[in-house]
Amino acid sequence: MEPGEIVHIRGEELRSVRALHAPRLAKCIFEHVYFSRPDSIVFGRTVQTSRDLMGRILAEESPVDADLVVPIPDSGVSAAIGYSQQSGIPFAFGLIRNHYVGRTFIEPKTTIRHFGVKVKLNPIKELLTGKRVVLIDDSIVRGTTSRKIVKMVRAAGAKEVHMRISCPPTLSPCFYGIDTPTKKELIASSHTVQEICKYIEADSLAYLSLPGLIRAVGGKENEFCTACYTGQYPLDFADMFPDAKAEDRQLDLWEASLKE
Ligand code: SF4
Repeated sequence: MEPGEIVHIRGEELRSVRALHAPRLAKCIFEHVYFSRPDSIVFGRTVQTSRDLMGRILAEESPVDADLVVPIPDSGVSAAIGYSQQSGIPFAFGLIRNHYVGRTFIEPKTTIRHFGVKVKLNPIKELLTGKRVVLIDDSIVRGTTSRKIVKMVRAAGAKEVHMRISCPPTLSPCFYGIDTPTKKELIASSHTVQEICKYIEADSLAYLSLPGLIRAVGGKENEFCTACYTGQYPLDFADMFPDAKAEDRQLDLWEASLKE
C-alpha cells in the first residue's frame, strides 16, 4: 500500500483509492482540544501546554466575576487550571468523575448518554453551595450533557453557573476518520451562543475564539484543519470521492452515506 491510499471493502469487492493528495498541510486541531492525552506531544507541542493556554486566553477573552473555577473532568481540567491561574479565581474539583464509565461524546445512543452523565459525575456540595461557579469544558456537542451538568451544579447549591468552552463552537462534522455527530446533531450549527446558553440554562456562556485557539496551539491557521469550527474543509469532497456524482457530494448526503 502507498501512503495516503485507502482500501475500500464492500462485500466481496475490494477497491483501492489514492485519496489523500492533500493540497496543503492540515493538522487536526481537535487533537489538541479533545482527543489526545495532555502528556502527548502532538505536532511537536505538548497538549498540556496548548490546553493550559486555551484556558488562559479564554480567561482574557471572556472574564466573569466568580468564586470558583470548576473543570468538567477529565478533558476540561487543563484549560480550567489555565483559566484559574490567569483570572486569579480559585480552582476546585467540584465535580468528580467516575472512571468506570465511558466518555459521553462517543456513546451512540441518547439514552445511554443521559444515563452516563448521572453515573459519571458527582458534585461536591460543600464546595459548590452558595458559590458563583465557572464551569470549564472542552466542547458543547449536542448540548444535552452540558444542560444536565449545569442543572446538577445548581442542584448542589451553586448561586450562579457560568459556562466557558476552551474552543470555538463545534459547527461541522469530521469526514477524515473521526466519528463525530452529524451536523444536524451539533447544536451550534443551528443555534446562536445566546440560544445555547438559554438551552443549557447557564447564567452566561462564552467560547474561545478561533484566533485564540490558533494562538494556544502555537501555529498558523493555514497549517491546521479547523473544519469542525469553520466548515472549511482543507480537502474538497470532489478530491476525496472522485467517482461520486457532483450532486451527491453535498454535506448532508455524504453524512448520510458515510454513517450507513
Ligand atoms: S474536521 Fe478537521 S479538525 Fe475536525 S476532527 Fe476532523 S480533521 Fe480534526
